[in-house]
Amino acid sequence: MAFLRAVVRHNVSRKLRVNLCDINGNCTLVRLSHPTSSVVPIALKSSHAASALGYDTELQRKSESQHPKDPLDTAFADPEASFKSKTTWEVIRAYIVYTLCSSEYLVEHNMKLMKVSKALLGDRLFKLMMKSTFYGHFVAGEDQEKIKPTLERLRSFGVKPILDYSVEEDISQEEAERREVEGSVSAAGDEKSQGTLTQYHVDKTFADRRYKVKSARTYFYLNEAQCERNLETFQRCLEAVSDDDIKSAKLKTLSTSNPENSLDKGSSCFSGATFGTGICAIKLTALGRPQLLLQLSEVIMRTRQYFSDVVGGQGSVISHHVGPEVLEKKFEQACLLSEAPVKKFLDKITYDREGVIHLFPWSGIIDENQQLSDTFRVPDLKTGRMVRLITTLTPKEEEMFRNMIRRLDSLARMAQDLDVRIMIDAEQTYFQPAISRITLEFMRKYNKEKAVVFNTYQCYLKDTYNECTTDLEQAKRQNFYFGAKLVRGAYLEQERARAAALGYSDPTNPSFEATTEMYHRTLTECLRRIKDLKDHGEERKIGIMVASHNEDTVRFAIEKMKEIGISPEDKVICFGQLLGMCDYITFPLGQSGYSAYKYIPYGPINEVLPYLSRRAQENRGILQKIKKEKSLLLQELRRRFVRGKFFYTPKGNYVPV
Ligand SMILES: Cc1cc2nc3c(=O)[nH]c(=O)nc-3n(C[C@H](O)[C@H](O)[C@H](O)COP(=O)(O)OP(=O)(O)OC[C@H]3O[C@@H](n4cnc5c(N)ncnc54)[C@H](O)[C@@H]3O)c2cc1C
Repeated sequence: MAFLRAVVRHNVSRKLRVNLCDINGNCTLVRLSHPTSSVVPIALKSSHAASALGYDTELQRKSESQHPKDPLDTAFADPEASFKSKTTWEVIRAYIVYTLCSSEYLVEHNMKLMKVSKALLGDRLFKLMMKSTFYGHFVAGEDQEKIKPTLERLRSFGVKPILDYSVEEDISQEEAERREVEGSVSAAGDEKSQGTLTQYHVDKTFADRRYKVKSARTYFYLNEAQCERNLETFQRCLEAVSDDDIKSAKLKTLSTSNPENSLDKGSSCFSGATFGTGICAIKLTALGRPQLLLQLSEVIMRTRQYFSDVVGGQGSVISHHVGPEVLEKKFEQACLLSEAPVKKFLDKITYDREGVIHLFPWSGIIDENQQLSDTFRVPDLKTGRMVRLITTLTPKEEEMFRNMIRRLDSLARMAQDLDVRIMIDAEQTYFQPAISRITLEFMRKYNKEKAVVFNTYQCYLKDTYNECTTDLEQAKRQNFYFGAKLVRGAYLEQERARAAALGYSDPTNPSFEATTEMYHRTLTECLRRIKDLKDHGEERKIGIMVASHNEDTVRFAIEKMKEIGISPEDKVICFGQLLGMCDYITFPLGQSGYSAYKYIPYGPINEVLPYLSRRAQENRGILQKIKKEKSLLLQELRRRFVRGKFFYTPKGNYVPV
């Protein structure tokens, strides 16, 4: 098929809008048509952008000092700070939405109710109703143009965007299962020979990956053409993030070169800059066939198993200092050292300076010319015969794997050119070893001068601390920037149910407290390493997003930052929450000079209904947080009423760090 071989390049011709302004702030809008990649290096490049745009970091700092920073109430109980970015109508709307989310009946039947309302009200009235309630509260707008006012408003209150095009297919369970099973099995058959691991093979009972998942979106594989369309959607998303940044950087130039400009006059148009800090969220399951992620995950786990058989114990590769002699001894003991395949295998293995073994050239997985089937072969420890650790892949499936890699590569390259970042979401544990490994390889490739690619670590998993520290160690040894988002994890119930049903050990922590402990331990280790690097003059080599709605975790991060000696201005720790959730955390953080992000969903009303349905369900599950948010909303309404500020217009003058 032609599209299997087509090389998609991202030099999408796009319009660059440039405001040419005179010293009095009179602006003329000029539209230029350019291939993205040729425009951006001149226009942006965050840390380098300063000089390209004619200002320097000194001026940038000066401009920042002209903007307010509020003290932070770490009890997150200040209604004014929480909602000063909202009109009174938006405060009332938020209260209505949270009240609706507290109704068992409404939440339980929300999808059905939305469909019935649409049929009764007709399209126009239905859209109006949704905009006045759920859609208006949780979604920023229909497309990248319509979300701009929301992005500008957030930015003027110190909050930056992670864009997420949230259109989801509303397919039946049967259709989801059918697609998943078809997309997860090789044309060569689902090989379950000796050594294969059940966890990494599809099971029809759990093929609908939406099962008990509220806080994450699910992509089901249809075909390669659909993956290409998803790629284009992510590319548009990246353009939207960068448009936002171009504008901000430009505005910042004006503000720094002429302090009399509107920045100080509170115009929403002149609202600050992120200097390449915008982010686009990416799911790897949108870009390729799930079977390939399953097979790669299995081979990664089997390699670890093989390695631990060789060294005679558990533990990560990095924690073992295995030199060539260890492996040779192992084969010698088995009287296999003279076998030709064993000799050839040992010759091909590489070791780094510190003696850490590289059984396979993992970087090859993102190399367009490398075949997976050829890579993962090892000598059997009993017979010396070479055995494949990967189950059979047909040539067409190898090509599909290269397509998936090519798609992600084009996004990472585009992000680098546009000077924005991509964050790869973490998904189910049966995909996660592959997702994490591929992301790490892209970090190695693209994070040479700054963190362009971010990975995600789910702290509900027992192994997360080890996984994260192993990757941090690799980044250190191989000298690339490490970017990560820390989350609790969105698939808990599904993970546990699947492990129990298929008979493998539960990969998740036994309790919420254990997850929190894992989260805080992993975060502390990241902070410790950041400080270490800072002390050695290597700033910003690690960037962490604390993506959580949990106040205690956010407070923990703030306290640890202080204790360890990391300030918000170091720009190495940021916080992330969803639009319409826990505003009482995000906005006070942004307004007090912490790096704060909102996950910004956008898309046409009728196509984001599944997203809204999940939001309603997720909110029902966090009643305690809703109770607090509702109480703060009421306090703010009362405050505005008493102070005669009912018709308050939000105007922010904050600059996100
Ligand atoms: C910006 C952002 C990005 C995200 N990206 C991802 C992603 O890429 N991948 C992903 O999987 N999730 C992602 N999430 C979702 C996240 O993993 C959580 O599901 C969600 O944020 C709830 O956790 P919390 O820390 O915010 O809040 P809390 O309300 O404190 O967490 C409550 C959650 O903890 C969970 N929990 C974890 N471990 C246990 C346990 N052992 N026992 C009982 N309950 C437990 C419960 O399921 C409950 O939902 C993201 C969230 C945000 C805000």
